[in-house]
Amino acid sequence: MKIIRFTNLPGDGIGPEVMSVALEVLEKTGEVYGFACETTAHDVGGIGIDNHGKALPQSTLDACKSVDAILFGSVGGPKWENLPPKEQPERAALLPLRKAFELFANLRPGNLFPELADLSPLRSDVASAGIDVLCVRELTGGIYFGQPKNTRTLEDGQKEAVDTMVYRTGEIQRITEVAVKAAALRDKKICSVDKANVLETSILWRQTVSECVQKLDPSIELSHMYVDNAAMQLVRNPNQFDVLLTENMFGDILSDELAVICGSLGMLASASLGTGTNSNNFPFGLYEPAGGTAPDIAGKGVANPCAQVLSAALMLRYSFGLEEAALAIENAVKETIRSGLRTGDIAQGAPAVGTTEMGSAILSRIA
Ligand code: NAD
Repeated sequence: MKIIRFTNLPGDGIGPEVMSVALEVLEKTGEVYGFACETTAHDVGGIGIDNHGKALPQSTLDACKSVDAILFGSVGGPKWENLPPKEQPERAALLPLRKAFELFANLRPGNLFPELADLSPLRSDVASAGIDVLCVRELTGGIYFGQPKNTRTLEDGQKEAVDTMVYRTGEIQRITEVAVKAAALRDKKICSVDKANVLETSILWRQTVSECVQKLDPSIELSHMYVDNAAMQLVRNPNQFDVLLTENMFGDILSDELAVICGSLGMLASASLGTGTNSNNFPFGLYEPAGGTAPDIAGKGVANPCAQVLSAALMLRYSFGLEEAALAIENAVKETIRSGLRTGDIAQGAPAVGTTEMGSAILSRIA
């Protein structure tokens, strides 16, 4: 039997509540699809600070280095809010993890099930068809990291601030490869988003993406769109997109736009993939819900476990190549929603179930 090895880092707030559901779902899926999970839990975030004095304890990092993927909950909360910014759980845990595993590719599926269309701020005739778009964002390059990056005082007393947007072909090629592989598992359509009418980096981006897709898989339908148009098209007609491929800053904005049109944070998963391959010949990845620790509902047993469960499905797909098992989990979540079961965040005033009940319903639909 295939063994899949990953660490689970539940973190703070609702993290442990939703993580336990995801682990149960993974175990059941393994029974049906012929794999076993070898996983250990480790402290990260606020609980890391409390128990080890660090948001990312060395023991947690070492454990992550010995496996093929990380299933992450979420970190932070009021208890740690007054720490200096550098020691805050999110920054002090997620940034070093991104760095340690060179997580350069961020995948954010934007899924809105038609049954939940009312949660979307989009017009009902647009939302009622549901949304299924995957945003692939370059995560380690571009304007957030380019040098020079500084602020100086000019001779006339004004201040001048500089950020630099830099991309190299290698960085564009490796993210395009991720998008091509992801598109191959979907409708084989990529829309690459840039600002090639203004930016040099975008001209290089467009050219490199075109060459790379042509070389890797010419059967992919590739289009290009300026970012301002993409932001509009995403709210006018999101389903014209299958995979949206873009650089760091544009992806930061568009992936949040995609999240908001999908209605609920409790439903959205994400994946961050690293360079190189793990022991299964797939990318090492960190998989986490898009939302945070939800301190307002933590400990009450009412959190929506879907985002964490769907993150586990992404882990099976991208870090272990278990596509059928990933689809089985995604379908189980879909069927559960279709059956009318709702946690509070998606109930819109109707009766709601708790985390465990939602989890059991998903579990019973793994086929
Ligand atoms: P949040 O995502 O935790 O909560 C925003 C709203 O969404 C809340 O009303 C919350 O109840 C709801 N929500 C989120 N996930 C839900 C779920 N699974 N089920 C039901 N409802 C859900 O964002 P916030 O309140 O801005 O942040 C709270 C804490 O989380 C902060 O400390 C923040 O730094 C941290 N945070 C961590 C991450 C991460 O670990 N990656 C991401 C975002 C925020």
